[in-house]
Amino acid sequence: MEFRKINKILIANRGEIAIRVMRTAKEMGIKTVAVYSTADRTALHTRYADEAVCIGDPPSNQSYLLGDKIIAVAKELGADAIHPGYGFLSENADFSAAVEAAGLVFIGPSAESIRQMGSKIAAKETAKKHNIPLVPGTEKAIQSLEEATSIANAIGYPILIKASAGGGGKGMRVVNEAKDLQEQIEMAQSEAKSAFGDASVFIEKYIAAPRHIEIQVMADKHGNAVYLFERECSIQRRHQKLVEEAPSACLTPAVRQAMGECAVRVALACNYSGAGTVEFLVDEKLNFYFLEMNTRLQVEHPVTEIIVGKDLVAEQIKVAQNEKLSYSQLDLHMNGHAIELRVCAEDPMNNFLPDIGTLTMYRKPQGTGVRVDDAYEEGMAIPIYYDPMIAKLIVHAPTREMAMDRMIRAIDEYKVNGIQTTLAFGKWVMQHEAFRRGAIDTGFIGKYFKPEQLKVEDEGEALVAALLGGMSFENNVNTSKSASSNSEMRVEAGIGSAAWEKRKGLR
Ligand code: ADP
Repeated sequence: MEFRKINKILIANRGEIAIRVMRTAKEMGIKTVAVYSTADRTALHTRYADEAVCIGDPPSNQSYLLGDKIIAVAKELGADAIHPGYGFLSENADFSAAVEAAGLVFIGPSAESIRQMGSKIAAKETAKKHNIPLVPGTEKAIQSLEEATSIANAIGYPILIKASAGGGGKGMRVVNEAKDLQEQIEMAQSEAKSAFGDASVFIEKYIAAPRHIEIQVMADKHGNAVYLFERECSIQRRHQKLVEEAPSACLTPAVRQAMGECAVRVALACNYSGAGTVEFLVDEKLNFYFLEMNTRLQVEHPVTEIIVGKDLVAEQIKVAQNEKLSYSQLDLHMNGHAIELRVCAEDPMNNFLPDIGTLTMYRKPQGTGVRVDDAYEEGMAIPIYYDPMIAKLIVHAPTREMAMDRMIRAIDEYKVNGIQTTLAFGKWVMQHEAFRRGAIDTGFIGKYFKPEQLKVEDEGEALVAALLGGMSFENNVNTSKSASSNSEMRVEAGIGSAAWEKRKGLR
């Protein structure tokens, strides 16, 4: 396989991940092309690239999902490769095939690998053939209620119905009793059909309180594959990750190695190339079960980059140029502990409802061991059309304990006004006694999180501020809490105006 130098990359994405990819490209002396929707005319990714082309209106299906248009732009501007980031077209096998058919390089796996792993049912079949442990359940789409009933009875309730084409935590239904099975299957099938265009559903044993631990793999086109250890992603809400860390607090070296080797087998089984993630559920006895493979760069990839000291995007690009992996398994070691918090424009006090508005204040944390991957500046508005994630706050420290303390410090330094964010929620997680012990599972938030807890903390801070009185209180408003007005401070504290004025000493 001949070396094929990439000189210019079009990034078929937006926001922080587009900038993340462009940064590495720049370091490698590669030119970058951004594509953007009219909502992103002044977005940072648009401004960061060497060239930028508007490809349509704000809704994704009129811009960032227009594969043919994006390929045409790449050809017109003389790009030789397309990086899809995550989301949008990243796991679209037809897009990968179309990019290659146009004579360009797709920075990701082949259409064939994406197809094989894109369907959860097909992925499980492949994994089974290679003796990877699976969650007990069906290996084929459910054909009839009789079949579903006998499988559910055999594995025992509760069971989980999953859409084969599902993703992003969508298309899953827990069934606790046999009497609900028929109704739930019918609903799951119709939901899967409308959300993913594929009604196939299958059944898995519903594992109580598992951990979600995933293995980062990297493979080249010469048959080499390695694992870059694990990421613990058990802090989830509605099956969506909010906090990720590496390494996991619970794995032993032997289990880590066993999971890593299984993940490499999965990658080799589908002729994988580039960066991929093999996801597992892990029970309290550290038994692990294959869930699925994500055939792209993950949102949470920085925690791996930090502990392993490797740039995953650089390696993706090298592999896409047909180079051999630049490291072997024995070259890879973990150093310290990294934690990532997804800072989202969501209101944790109000059921994590997406919030919109303008960043009237936006100051990022700095200092040792802090990395912020974002795409915003003070004064910018959060577009309503896309993912509500505004930043990834990532910290690195020698130990888990120190990483949690560093995260709290960084959260306190992060000043955001104008929209609600998940920052205070992140601090609550870092301070939680069970999280600190590493005693976590995917039920953590459901079990422990009550919105009032954030309110109590805010009120506590406001009270302390009020007790300080006068000038020092004003200072506190302007610097420590960083609210630009008392009313914003009040909104932040979640308290009414009478109570506020009392605290402030006006009554
Ligand atoms: P998606 O592709 O939608 O992200 P996954 O299969 O990766 O779906 O699962 C997402 C999350 O759903 C997991 O991290 C876990 O929290 C939960 N989950 C999935 N399968 C099971 C199961 N069999 N038992 C318990 N929880 C599960």
